Amino acid sequence: QQHDTHTLRQDDGRHHLHPFTDTKALGSGSRIITGADGIYIHDSEGNRILDAMSGLWCVNLGYGRRELVEAAATQMTELPYYNNFFKTAHPPAIKLAKKLTELAPEHINHVFFTGSGSESNDTVVRMVRRYWQLKGQPNKTVIIGRRNGYHGSTLAGASLGGMAPMHEQGGPMLPDVEHIAQPYWFGEGREMSPQEFGLLAARSLEQKIKELGVERVAAFIAEPVQGAGGVIIPPDSYWPEIQRICDQYGILLIADEVICGFGRLGQWFGSQHFNIKPDLMPIAKGLSSGYLPIGGVLVGDRVAEVLIEQGGEFYHGFTYSGHPACAAVALRNLELMEEEGIIARVREVTAPYFAKQWATLADHPLVGEVRSLGLLGALELVADKATLARFEPGVGGQCRDNCFASGIVMRSVGETMVVSPPLVITEAQIDELVRLARQSLDLTARQLGL
Ligand code: PLP
Repeated sequence: QQHDTHTLRQDDGRHHLHPFTDTKALGSGSRIITGADGIYIHDSEGNRILDAMSGLWCVNLGYGRRELVEAAATQMTELPYYNNFFKTAHPPAIKLAKKLTELAPEHINHVFFTGSGSESNDTVVRMVRRYWQLKGQPNKTVIIGRRNGYHGSTLAGASLGGMAPMHEQGGPMLPDVEHIAQPYWFGEGREMSPQEFGLLAARSLEQKIKELGVERVAAFIAEPVQGAGGVIIPPDSYWPEIQRICDQYGILLIADEVICGFGRLGQWFGSQHFNIKPDLMPIAKGLSSGYLPIGGVLVGDRVAEVLIEQGGEFYHGFTYSGHPACAAVALRNLELMEEEGIIARVREVTAPYFAKQWATLADHPLVGEVRSLGLLGALELVADKATLARFEPGVGGQCRDNCFASGIVMRSVGETMVVSPPLVITEAQIDELVRLARQSLDLTARQLGL
């Protein structure tokens, strides 16, 4: 199909308010994405670009999977829409619920469906508070999140998240949400060892609980690895200490698996990589490889038993909770991941190869630290390799634009460059990813006169 790039850009600039975009600065300058195959996207000017971000951390099986298209078409022909409210249900939602609870850790046997990660986190807030009401402790309402965490853009999602600009815009945020430190060793902890710093960051949860009074604290929420915050991989000491604190004080642990779930860290769920036992796990994105919008909350037995046995009707749900076409696509997506052994391959082959190749970027003059876990990677850009002094804000965005111009999508989070490629990436494509990343860094260094 032919696309008139000029007209599309003009119309985009005139009428389209993009998410997370300065519309005025964008003007009519958007890049128009018209197609995709495998791990590549195509733009309206005929460029083929390696999508090292899997869209927004979601196209885990890559683009162009006919099986997923067929699953949607078949389901839409049979039953394009029905809901699961009151006393109805439909086969795709039932089958997906069963499949998810088979894949989840043993203590998780229920799922509540939503349409997105943000809706999943809104659901979590209401579920957690409902749980404590039913337990006879209605004052336990405070949920503790982390600075720079990301849990979505609805009011609850933005409040749980710890992104300062999101809190500043359109406030006030939800009451009874508090934030603690993030385990960002390179940015905030280099004067001590990563393990010491990991313990310190985890213990800020204990401090916060004591400060608030445990009788007020309902839950702690965190991503196993902070994604949008800059691929913050916690030191090994971090998660065991968080688990200990949650257990000791009896508060619920919520692992936001929206990015880390479905193979990103080489396990079905990121929390399995860290050996933690969350009570609730919000999911979305990779659940359907992003082909159709669907999310959910995986609910552990501790919470499910109380909600079901004592709760009566839960006044909560979305028109598209468990939408049949989305559920059918998600189910097929999970089946394909199983049939093709995607997760074991990520764990045993792709992630180790990626880690090795990605680490070769450490010698670049702009790079102060390279890190990766599973198929998540980050590069810390520095102005001075010897002192690790950071750049003024702006260089990350410049590097991201250079990536696009060089034929690769990478994301910038401040002056941190991050990647999250499709799980189906091959070794040859990892080589290509690293080569294009280096090319983009070189271009940025030249522009900066370094
Ligand atoms: N939670 C995490 C960890 C995310 O990364 C995101 C999106 O990036 C969300 C929640 C929100 O998901 P959605 O954009 O589907 O609402």
